[in-house]
Amino acid sequence: MKLLEERILKDGIVIGTDILKVDSFLNHQMDVALFEEMGKEWKRLYEGEKVTKILTIEASGIGIACLAAREFGVPVVFAKKSRSRNIPGDVYKAKVFSFTHGNENDVIVSKRFLSPEDSVLIIDDFLANGAALQGLIELVESAGAKVAGCGVAIEKAFQPGGDMIREKGYRVESLARVSSMSEEGITFC
Ligand code: 5GP
Repeated sequence: MKLLEERILKDGIVIGTDILKVDSFLNHQMDVALFEEMGKEWKRLYEGEKVTKILTIEASGIGIACLAAREFGVPVVFAKKSRSRNIPGDVYKAKVFSFTHGNENDVIVSKRFLSPEDSVLIIDDFLANGAALQGLIELVESAGAKVAGCGVAIEKAFQPGGDMIREKGYRVESLARVSSMSEEGITFC
């Protein structure tokens, strides 16, 4: 998606070799008009695919997932990084290793919000090693629901997550795929 690539080139900041900071428009300050265009693009890519729900993970996925949900006309569910105590049996749970924080979190979704009838589009801001998408896929499948596909804003294609998830047979549509990056510049696939 040209608009997103241009924005990354304009405002993205590369930190070290593997972190892309896009907090001026994607995951701290949020450009909602850009999110709206991203939502439209996922809708175009998944045209004809049955989608009954959008699932993302807190916190950075929520904004883009909401704008995508407007296009699909379905609710958004976000997986919570579980801190509070939950009654066992009430939630679906998966473990996700956080790329940015370097720790492992239990992520949970209430059983009330995913069911075997659901066909779920998973949305997230970044795809790096694939742990977040993998955890979200596990939550969907624990509910007996179908994964319609994954929609990612920025895939760092030089990291292994995209290949790993696609090799398992899931469809992944990334709006910008970074092939390499350094403090000198960013290139797209
Ligand atoms: P993965 O689970 O695929 O290794 O990493 C994806 C998750 O880590 C995303 O939910 C995102 O929040 C975070 N992440 C991974 N790489 C980056 C990055 O380069 N920049 C930012 N801001 N977040 C990232």
